[in-house]
Amino acid sequence: MDKKDRCSLILERLFLEYPDAGTMLKYNSFFELLVAVILSAQTTDKQVNKVTPELFAVYNTPEAMAKADLKELEEKIKKVGLYRSKAKNLKNMARFLIDFYDGKVPDDFEELMKLPGVGRKTANVVLSVGFGKPGLGVDTHVHRVVNRLGLVQTDNPIKTEYELKDLISVELWGRAHHLFIFHGRRVCKARRPECIKCIINDLCCKNF
Ligand code: SF4
Repeated sequence: MDKKDRCSLILERLFLEYPDAGTMLKYNSFFELLVAVILSAQTTDKQVNKVTPELFAVYNTPEAMAKADLKELEEKIKKVGLYRSKAKNLKNMARFLIDFYDGKVPDDFEELMKLPGVGRKTANVVLSVGFGKPGLGVDTHVHRVVNRLGLVQTDNPIKTEYELKDLISVELWGRAHHLFIFHGRRVCKARRPECIKCIINDLCCKNF
């Protein structure tokens, strides 16, 4: 079986296992989604959801965020990691949206990538989750799981994204992102993967 076939079998099984796989982030607009995804770097969606209700009660538009007092903003997102740089990025990103995109979140990968604080993962997630366009965000879970599965052999998430995109049909990119994340969180955990109960262990290269 070649890698593409194996990948597609893996995704079929993961879909049956996690039919509700999707974003856990809570948001009410493209702007709030973008903010939530920026905040989610190196922390959990659960942790982000703890700070966003209070944050979005005040700063739910680019205009409000751009005018925010940096210290106040930091205070509101303090419970997520890297809050100082994230607060700075959020303010700059909001200003950038106002100055160059009429205050609207662009629905284009290259344009999203121009925004302060937005990297490939964030752009991919906003594109697929927010706009329903093709995007395959690779975070630490996706990177770990697909490397263990032997679908890719890479040493960083960017290379993983490129290799993985070649194995999966464009229309399945967004779903694949969530399925690998769910599997990484629940079974193929970073420290101790639970291979015995893994429903794709017969398709895995690291069946240990
Ligand atoms: S068999 Fe183990 S290493 Fe492979 S995907 Fe399952 S949990 Fe991860």
